[in-house]
Amino acid sequence: IANLGKYSHLNAFINVADHESVLARVAASAESSPSTDNVNARSPFGRLIAIKDNICTADLPTTAASGILKLLKSPYDATVVKQLREAGAITVGKTNLDEFGMGSHNLHSHFGASKLVRGGEERSAGGSSGGSAVAVATGQCWAALGTDTGGSVRLPAAYTRTVGFKPSYGLLSRWGVIAYANSLDTVGILGQNVESVEGVFDSLDFYDPQDPTSLPPSTRSRLPKQGSGGAKTLKIGVPMDYNISTLDATVRKAWLRSLQLLQARGHTLHTVRLPATQHALSAYYVLAPAEASSNLAKYDGIRYGSRAEGKDGIPDSVLFAKTRGEGFGPEVQRRILLGAFSLSAQAIDNYFIQAQKVRRLVQQDFDNVFATPNPLMTSQPEVDGEGVDVLLCPTAPTLAPKLSEIKGQQPLHAYMNDVFTVPASLAGLPAISVPVHADEGVKAATEEASAWSGMQIIGQYGDDRVVLDLAKELF
Ligand code: GLN
Repeated sequence: IANLGKYSHLNAFINVADHESVLARVAASAESSPSTDNVNARSPFGRLIAIKDNICTADLPTTAASGILKLLKSPYDATVVKQLREAGAITVGKTNLDEFGMGSHNLHSHFGASKLVRGGEERSAGGSSGGSAVAVATGQCWAALGTDTGGSVRLPAAYTRTVGFKPSYGLLSRWGVIAYANSLDTVGILGQNVESVEGVFDSLDFYDPQDPTSLPPSTRSRLPKQGSGGAKTLKIGVPMDYNISTLDATVRKAWLRSLQLLQARGHTLHTVRLPATQHALSAYYVLAPAEASSNLAKYDGIRYGSRAEGKDGIPDSVLFAKTRGEGFGPEVQRRILLGAFSLSAQAIDNYFIQAQKVRRLVQQDFDNVFATPNPLMTSQPEVDGEGVDVLLCPTAPTLAPKLSEIKGQQPLHAYMNDVFTVPASLAGLPAISVPVHADEGVKAATEEASAWSGMQIIGQYGDDRVVLDLAKELF
């Protein structure tokens, strides 16, 4: 609690709960006697948890960091928030993000960027869940909810030396989560260690009849209930297509070190190819804006959104244009234009349809290398050799860049940061980013955060527990 608000210059929160109310809830939680089951390192009972501001809560506004929703006060809690409260968690505030989740550096927020300060220098906190990552990294909360459409939980985790987990698509409820690109959107979790992330995941991993994309119980029952518990040796795939020439030397060193660490623990390493990976980023940046342009059409000042001032009684088309022009930031406007273009009659065949085909190829790439079949598919491809259990690759090609370097860069430059995170998103697979130091013998507690890279473990659909268990062996 002492840390909550202490780092206000980092702008991690858009709205923080009233301090007295947090104290009262902490006191009440300390008095109630939880079952012994609840009193463990993983349980969110009595813990401070921050919520990304594109997830609805009834107690504080929900802005999605957008001018157009700056006045929104949700009448209800999102299912994931309700579940956390039921598990005894204490929600402390709403964290900063790139407007509607669109961005990789948290620079596109109506409320100003959330950032990191290292060695006196301002660096990117990553996006779009940058505020959640900074809140966790500075100990302002025990864990935080984010959303991950193309890497928005994993990238900030990699930049801030925290753990970020994107579960399999459809496991956690999206009811009450403001949509960016529905077919990719997931709720993700950030924490200082894998155990806290797992504890939050356990509290949220349930079917929600209110979310039409929530995985139904019949399919859930076919998923593995547990990971290896660290007891089983795994076949770890090393995707050679991720070894790109622009990979930062420190990140490559941390990748090698992670592989050596896991090999020393008895796991075996296998190189694999995921050839469609090189097209994944382009496909993502066609599909995500297309879905976004459709999702954001409702913010017109009449159905939803803050209406442009003094514009009553004018024709609707003028009202819409003014409201949307004033309410949306430049990156969101760019995505709406991109999406509207790629869905238009003249472009849909060459862009949207092609991108969907690439998405299918990316999904097949993963199914081609995993030993276990994808539980969502009825027919399975032939796996070359025996197949691997998980994949290990970097989360991002570089460490957290300096803000001075990013400002003024072309938008495409920011899109490049997502090159390693979007493939798992396109395929709906579970993926976690854990911090690994490039040098041996550096303890997790050391302050020199600069040489920590995010390493990403990706599993087959539904192998969330396998991914979490292996992450515990790395961090
Ligand atoms: N940076 C990516 C984008 O801007 C991913 C964002 C996200 O996962 N919400 O679309």
